[in-house]
Amino acid sequence: MAGQVPLVDYLVLDDPPHLVANECVACGARYFDRRNACASCEGTEFRPVSVPTEGEVRAFTIVTFAAPGVPVPFVASVVDCGGTSVRGNLVNIEPDPEHVRLGMKVRLTTFPIAADSEGTEAIGFGFEPLEATRV
Ligand SMILES: [Zn+2]
Repeated sequence: MAGQVPLVDYLVLDDPPHLVANECVACGARYFDRRNACASCEGTEFRPVSVPTEGEVRAFTIVTFAAPGVPVPFVASVVDCGGTSVRGNLVNIEPDPEHVRLGMKVRLTTFPIAADSEGTEAIGFGFEPLEATRV
């Protein structure tokens, strides 16, 4: 049976899809990768927390050179989602400095990256502008 699997394990394909971070129980630092100990306080207890799906662009880079097969240009960004920094590409936006602005409001969006021979889709995520800026 065809289905969908997230490309990264911190993407949860609920309705709506969202990201889940590992939060240090001791100090509240949040990580998307698995850690044995917190980088801030060396705490070893973590709990999963849902990350808000809307945020603000804190930093971005317009990438014009990438590995073969990766469409360019694209916009790599860091988005502040309610205090949690999330790395993701900006999508559904013209990849140029006139359209991408620091502080712009974006929201999480998901899209199929690839499908295997049984039709199972790998789902990736990115951030798109809250207000349509497409021309
Ligand atoms: Zn900690």
